[in-house]
Amino acid sequence: SSALVWFRRDLRCDDHAALSRALASADRVWCAFVFDTTILAPLLRCKRAGRHSGTPADRRIDFILAALVELDRALQKQGGGLIVMHGDPTDCIPRLAEQLGVDTVFANRDYEPAAIARDEAVGRKLKAAGREFVTFKDQVIFERDEILNKQGGPYTVFTPYKRAWLLRLAPADVAPYEVGARRGQLGAPPDSMRAQRPSLKDLGFAPSDLPALKLPTGMSGAARLLDDFIERIDRYDEQRNFPSVKGPSYLSTHLRFGTISIRSLVRTAHDLTLRPRGGGASTWLSELIWREFFFMVLAMNPQLASGASFKPEYDALRWETGPQADADFDAWREGRTGYPLVDAGMRQLVQTGYMHNRLRMVTASFLAKDLGIDWRRGEAHFEQWLNDFDFAANNGGWQWAASTGCDAQPWFRIFNPVTQSKEYDPEGRFIKRYVPELEAVPAKFVHAPWLAAPEQLAEVGFVLGRDYPPPIVDHAKAREVTLARYRATGARG
Ligand code: FAD
Repeated sequence: SSALVWFRRDLRCDDHAALSRALASADRVWCAFVFDTTILAPLLRCKRAGRHSGTPADRRIDFILAALVELDRALQKQGGGLIVMHGDPTDCIPRLAEQLGVDTVFANRDYEPAAIARDEAVGRKLKAAGREFVTFKDQVIFERDEILNKQGGPYTVFTPYKRAWLLRLAPADVAPYEVGARRGQLGAPPDSMRAQRPSLKDLGFAPSDLPALKLPTGMSGAARLLDDFIERIDRYDEQRNFPSVKGPSYLSTHLRFGTISIRSLVRTAHDLTLRPRGGGASTWLSELIWREFFFMVLAMNPQLASGASFKPEYDALRWETGPQADADFDAWREGRTGYPLVDAGMRQLVQTGYMHNRLRMVTASFLAKDLGIDWRRGEAHFEQWLNDFDFAANNGGWQWAASTGCDAQPWFRIFNPVTQSKEYDPEGRFIKRYVPELEAVPAKFVHAPWLAAPEQLAEVGFVLGRDYPPPIVDHAKAREVTLARYRATGARG
């Protein structure tokens, strides 16, 4: 018998559920990846709309291409290789299965509603042609409804979910999937298929600046980041909130594209929690559980993918619209709100495709609660720019920040962007990296330069309004407007 493994967001060849099962059940196994035009076409449209001219670039496309090169090489070493196609997978995969004459297509499960619909369509076409389509849990330790509350329903608050998740965790849940292929078992792509492999240009993109950024690619890049992080993991709980410090793992893009296995990360984190200074590993494990929590929330609430608030009562929120809101939104996304920490975060996003978690919370809260702008507009901006963009985590993070989602905190807790700045970037080191206009401003004024007397800043040659904008909104007043906006929904928080 022969099988096809369809790679999607699992671009590695170790500890891989679908590949392991295919190798265990078929004599001949082919491997393929499809650049999905139903995803790329809207992305290209959106990129073109945001640019004046020229071919758009996207760091994620370069990241995927680099991961595919490494995956292909690793498969070739075992006698196989990767078939890479460009088109609608609901056509490409059944056609490829036919050309190769395989009995079964194997894939790892994806939990986004659009991906589920795509997989159902592929499954139907394969079935009509007498083939099977089988999918496996691989992206997460516990999926969909595997962790339920005592009433048999999904958790809506993180802490009890995490407790139940940890109680359920057993060694078998994190055991690696063996993928050793027998000699000759992996099929090498025919030359005709190799020749059709799309280039970046064929996909419609120009090269991005990814190579210049500090984000190593592929399975080897993920392994390097993990090694580096393990050296620092003991300090994770103390350092993770300070954007100027190398505190977090920077593995999110690798987790997004599956260049590293979640089982290996949970195993590593869990083992390290047992060490004397295990607090760092334990906090990091919690973050990996947040990732699972939001996957679960999306899987159990597919309406989120159509823009619904997790708590429906907040669909009644009346957001600011019109020319002033549009101008505020532009200032926010371009990093010129006059709030230095917010601006630094927004510029980090566009300049690197990454934003520190603390700043994702601060900038998201600022959009929804200081500017009163619909969080969905911010969600879409993050979707466009984040290298690690993942619908479940992004939507979860945005709804958390806008108090419309799974947050144990009530809506009347509002982040103060100046207090956050003083607490998490006390010397303004991160701010000055991304907002160099403030380089000469002393640390005591860098969080809120408008609070300094003009002559105090003139001493260092800085003029507010000339070198950097005054704040576009008064936080104290905005807070009152926001409280009224949320109160008007009748929601109690
Ligand atoms: P680490 O601190 O090293 O964490 C390890 C891993 O845990 C991350 O790689 C990620 O996979 C997971 N993780 C950590 N925090 C969260 C969280 N709050 N929710 C879900 N998973 C988490 N994360 C994304 O992966 N994609 C997104 O599109 C995304 N959008 C976000 C939007 C907002 C408004 C907010 C507040 C958070 C968002 N996050 C998102 C979560 C978090 O900010 C990033 O996962 C984290 O900053 C990535 O950096 P890291 O890999 O160095 O994290």
